[in-house]
Amino acid sequence: MVAALAMSMCVMVTVSATAGDGGSALIPTALVPGAVQVERARAGAVDVAADAIEVAQTVQAEGAQVAIDAAQLEALEAATARLDELLVEATGEEPDLDRDPATSRSAERAAADVPATATAPVPAPVAADPAAPIDPASVFEQTPAPPTVPLVPPAAGKEDETTAELREAVAAVATLTSTVRQSAEAKRVADAAAAAAAAQAAAEAAAAAAAAQAAADAAAQAAAAQAAQRAAWKQSLLGYSNGKIPDSALCGVSFDASVRLRCDAAEQLDVLNVAYRAQFGSNLVVNDSYRSYAGQVACKRTKGYLCATPGTSNHGSGIAVDLGGGIDSFGTRQHRWMAAHAPDLHWDLPSWATWGGSKPEAWHWEYTG
Ligand SMILES: [Zn+2]
Repeated sequence: MVAALAMSMCVMVTVSATAGDGGSALIPTALVPGAVQVERARAGAVDVAADAIEVAQTVQAEGAQVAIDAAQLEALEAATARLDELLVEATGEEPDLDRDPATSRSAERAAADVPATATAPVPAPVAADPAAPIDPASVFEQTPAPPTVPLVPPAAGKEDETTAELREAVAAVATLTSTVRQSAEAKRVADAAAAAAAAQAAAEAAAAAAAAQAAADAAAQAAAAQAAQRAAWKQSLLGYSNGKIPDSALCGVSFDASVRLRCDAAEQLDVLNVAYRAQFGSNLVVNDSYRSYAGQVACKRTKGYLCATPGTSNHGSGIAVDLGGGIDSFGTRQHRWMAAHAPDLHWDLPSWATWGGSKPEAWHWEYTG
């Protein structure tokens, strides 16, 4: 009976556990001969080591894919290589690190009687089914149970030095595999957060760009509308003769109720007044603007050469003003400021009215827009 069992187990060991020997598990270790115990322990350790290498390589690939710390990957690779060397020594087989998972030792020993229990200091050990083949693709899915390196169980009877070395090497691989797995998971979480942040930033940038475009479009529309309005204003008085413009066709300004001008001239004088007030703290002083034909006749009668012949003055066209408050004298700060800034808004001192002109009038400004 004992001899038959021993022979049965020798056969099992020799063929590397290609078949289960369910009966042997029922025999107390103390009753199994020493040599058989040694062979059996080594066979179990060999099996676990092969599985450990498979899981380690899967996790190694996972870590490399998300680019974790290279030192961790190198440490795991070195420990895996060391374990593989021991495995070759223990079995005499050639290294086969890239074997097809479909023919893995896990599958081969699906009915093996060697339990895999986590007794080494592996962080957060998970009792994964040692018989389940590892699908490398599955580690990138939201699977609740990540692959865990199995461990060689503690010695239950006699064993040789190779078995002890395998146990130690498997434990080292288990620890490093766990470290790499945790790093990979942390890296995935960080990468996802970074991607989400980048997507958020891109969305905000796109929204800001759209808002800026909308604002630019609105501004362009407003500018076009304003240009059209000014063009219409410029044409608005062409049907009237000099000094014969009805008050309803003219516009006023915000800072002086007495001012009457062609509407585009009035609008720009308002703009000019804002800049003038910012500089001098007071509004432009407008002594005269539109002048009717009758007013021009009266002007000519009372001021003589200072007033143009009735029917020829730009006051009668609604585009001239006579200014005071210092602007009416050449060389004053106010006059110099006007000369520097008013032309930007198309308010100019005509050449005949300049200091060297034919009839110098520092106060007479005309809209040329
Ligand atoms: Zn004038």
